[in-house]
Parts: sequence; structure tokens; C-alpha cells
Amino acid sequence: MATTLQHWKNGAVYEGTSGRFSDVTNPATGEVTAQLALANEADVDAVVAAAAAAFPAWRDTSLAKRTQVLFAFRELLNARKEELAAIITAEHGKVLSDAYGEVSRGQEVVEFACGMPHLIKGAFTENASTKVDVHSIRQPLGVAGIISPFNFPAMVPMWFFPIAIAAGNTVVVKPSEKDPTSVLWIAELWQEAGLPDGVFNVLNGDKVAVDGLLAHPDVASISFVGSTPIAQYVYETGTRHGKRVQALGGAKNHMLVLPDADLDLAADQAVNAGYGSAGERCMAISAVVAVGGIGDELVTKIKERTVGLRTGDGTRGCDMGPLVTAAARDRVSGYIDAGEAAGATLVVDGRTVEPDADGEGFFVGPTLFDHVSTEMSIYTDEIFGPVLSVVRVDSYDEGVELINSNRYGNGVAIFTNDGGAARRFQNEVSVGMVGINVPVPVPMAYYSFGGWKASLFGDTHAHGVEGVHFFTRGKVITSRWLDPSHGGLNLGFPQNT
Ligand code: NAD
Repeated sequence: MATTLQHWKNGAVYEGTSGRFSDVTNPATGEVTAQLALANEADVDAVVAAAAAAFPAWRDTSLAKRTQVLFAFRELLNARKEELAAIITAEHGKVLSDAYGEVSRGQEVVEFACGMPHLIKGAFTENASTKVDVHSIRQPLGVAGIISPFNFPAMVPMWFFPIAIAAGNTVVVKPSEKDPTSVLWIAELWQEAGLPDGVFNVLNGDKVAVDGLLAHPDVASISFVGSTPIAQYVYETGTRHGKRVQALGGAKNHMLVLPDADLDLAADQAVNAGYGSAGERCMAISAVVAVGGIGDELVTKIKERTVGLRTGDGTRGCDMGPLVTAAARDRVSGYIDAGEAAGATLVVDGRTVEPDADGEGFFVGPTLFDHVSTEMSIYTDEIFGPVLSVVRVDSYDEGVELINSNRYGNGVAIFTNDGGAARRFQNEVSVGMVGINVPVPVPMAYYSFGGWKASLFGDTHAHGVEGVHFFTRGKVITSRWLDPSHGGLNLGFPQNT
């Protein structure tokens, strides 16, 4: 019988009151594994109230004590990574090694946040004016809301909550309803690490939960990651309610392959970045742009590698797992139908895949299209599946123009052996994260992650110093310690002397 997954509030399971539930499935088998409680407004209020109540004591807990908890959390996570990876595979479907990689990249942000005493340091200026000193401090905001997508159920929340918590905020995480168990597991890990109850809370649900957080007067900030239409909605609604919002959206990531590139390397990386996690990565490569006369050779090399991939249950050592839901599978198949109908050349057809799995999993195999043009829906839309499109252009300039005309600007890669071309590309391309002979250029935790254009709403990217900035606000203190006899009336604007 399927288990019931609830919310987490004040260090304990909180039974929601809505009576609404959704199914959580194992995408490799199609089996329903749990019923997830979906919050109503009363549940939102209850969970936010717990986070708000825990804030004063946590913000006043010394940095030394706060970071001790972070270090303890890091140790536990590191020791039990495989458990979390197994949870991810069971609900998301990505293969175990990929799930393990996801946890490792999330852990990097925990490690970065362990350095909060250094990151949060202010500045001090002695004698800025005669006998006047000035210093700046950064303080936490209050309750931070974190709303995450299905495709990185552990890593994406970890882009935010370690920094928010280390900086002295309390958090409410609203995971994707498709794979919520990772965040519930993390909640228990925090408790084991010694985090005070109420600092880390989990609110499960759908639009009702999201809307509740966006409008709640006690939620100070929203960090959102998901598709572009919802990111834009979250940004507009959250800021209208006076909140600080960072909202990361969808993507269409290109790989520009110049004629001088190592085509074997480019083909390997196109396959890795196109089909890893079944293409359900916001940094997946979905469009390969072949420059000059290399199209035929490059497509042949990608095809050779693609047909050898094993698709199946992520626990069986396969290369690629299923899509997350039956609806996602049908959507991706629909795009393949549309690409064929629009006249693109279907080089490898994933609709006919025979997966290594039991049951009724949601599989589409790796799919390769050639001669794709920019008006086709397989090019214009974010498919979020294992479908790689090759677009051919005549020149570098045409390739850059094509990439810069795209509405998204999350990640991009150039493959070349020409350093000058790469340098020019990094300067000219309108994309937030650029790889040079690196197909998935996800920044390290001490840099910031975020795209441009329709891939991010707001001005703050995730983690790195921008993350610290997002979860704190600045205060500047100007002080003078003088003999009282130096006082006196002066109604003019303060001037430096
Ligand atoms: P999604 O937009 O459907 O859902 C994201 C979150 O929003 C979930 O928690 C969901 O419950 C909530 N939500 C869904 N519909 C809503 C609505 N109408 N109103 C309010 N809240 C709503 O995204 P997804 O399918 O879970 O994730 C895939 C998308 O996320 C892709 O577009 C991918 O590119 C994007 N993504 C972007 C990044 C990035 O860094 N830019 C990272 C990961 C994923």
C-alpha cells in the first residue's frame, strides 16, 4: 500500500488539513509509491507561523553555533549521500550515478555556506569624518520561501537553504509534488545535525501552496526555480506583495561546434549533455549548431554514440532513465511527431525504445533530429526530454546570431580549438553561463548560477556571493563617540569634516 507523505513543521511531521492528495510515482515502473498531502491556506499559515516563530532565536544564535550546525549537516549528508541518491532515482527516475552527482553538487553549496562567518563580514571605516566611524553589517531577512522543480529534487533546494540558514533566516521549502521525499529526508537530517526546530520546514503542495507563500505577509523572500511561465508569474506576484524574489526559469541551450573542433569530443559531449537525466536538466544541450561543412560528420558521430545507449530503470546501471511522468513522456513523443511532420530528418527515433525495466515506466529513448530549422517547435520550445536537434549554419556569426535570437539565455557551450574564437564568443553571447569545450557549465557553488533573458526573473542569481546578498540585507551604522560638550544645534544636512 502506498504511504502518505505529509508536511514538516517545527521539527515534526505536520498532518495537513486539506484532504487533498496527489500521487507520487516511480517513473521506471509506473507504480504509485505514495500519496502526497497538498496544502491548503490553513496549512500554509501553520507552516509559515512555525518558521516565523523560530526566526528571532535563530537570527540571534551566534555565527559560531550556526556554522557548527552547518558542518554537522555536511558530515551527515556526505556520509549518507547514497540514501538520498536512491530516493531521487525512485521518484525522479534519473540513473543512480546521476542522482549521486546531483547530491554532490548540492553538497558543495552546504560547504560554501559553512564559510558564512567570512562571507557575511561587513566593512569598517575609521574616522570617515572627524571622529566619526562607519561600519556596515548584513542581517537575515526572516522567513525565506523556496519553491523547487522536479528535475533536481535535492540539488535545487540546496542552492538556497544552506545559505539562507547559515545567514540566520528560517526557511519553508515547497518541493515539487512529483518527487517530494528528498526534501522530507533532508528535514530529518537537519534535525539530526542539531538545527533548532522550526528553522527548516517543508510545505507540500501545488499552486495553492505557492500562492499562499507568495501572498503571506510573514514570508520575506522567494527563491523559485521552474518553467518560464511560472517563474514570471512568481516574480510578478511575489514582488507585488513586497517580497524579494529570484525566479529561475526554463532554457534552450545550444552547443556551437566550430569546424576546427575535435568532433569526437564534441559528439561525446553532445550525447552526454543532451541525454543525461533524459534531457530533464535546465542545462541540457538541446540544440547542436554545426558551423560550416561539419554537419554530416558530426551527425554520424552523434548517431553512432546514441544508438549504443541503454535506456531503462535507473537502478540497473543503464545510461538513461525514464521521463518523470506519463504526461511528460506523451509530451516529448508529441514533439517528436511534430518534428517529423515539420520535415526535420529523424536520425534516431526514441519512441520505439525497448527499456530495461519492469512494469509500465515512462520511457522515451534518445532521439536525434538533423536539418532542424528555427521555426520548428522542436527548436522553439523547451522539450525537456532526450531530444537533440542539429541545426546547420554557414558561419560563426550566423551561429551566434541564432543563439542570441533565442528567448532563453541559461547555458551555452562552444566547441573549438581556437582560443580567439572562444574568447570572442564569451564576450558576444547573450547567455548567463558559458562553457568552452565544457557542455554543461554549471558554476561551482562559490560562483553564482543563473541565466539571462527568459531564463531568470529578478537580478540575483543563485548561490555564491549573490546568494549571500539575496538572503541578507545591508545596514550601515555611522557612529560618533564625543564629549557631550561638542554637541549643538545644526539643522543642515550632515557634511563630512
Ligand atoms: P514547473 O514550473 O512546472 O514547477 C516548478 C514549481 O512550481 C513546482 O514546485 C510546482 O509545484 C510549482 N507550480 C507549478 N505550476 C504552478 C502554478 N500554476 N502556479 C504556481 N506554482 C506552480 O517546473 P517543473 O516541471 O517542475 O521543472 C522543469 C522546469 O524547470 C523546466 O522548465 C526547467 O528548465 C526549469 N528549471 C530551471 C532551472 C534553472 O536554473 N533555470 C533549474 C531547474 C529546472
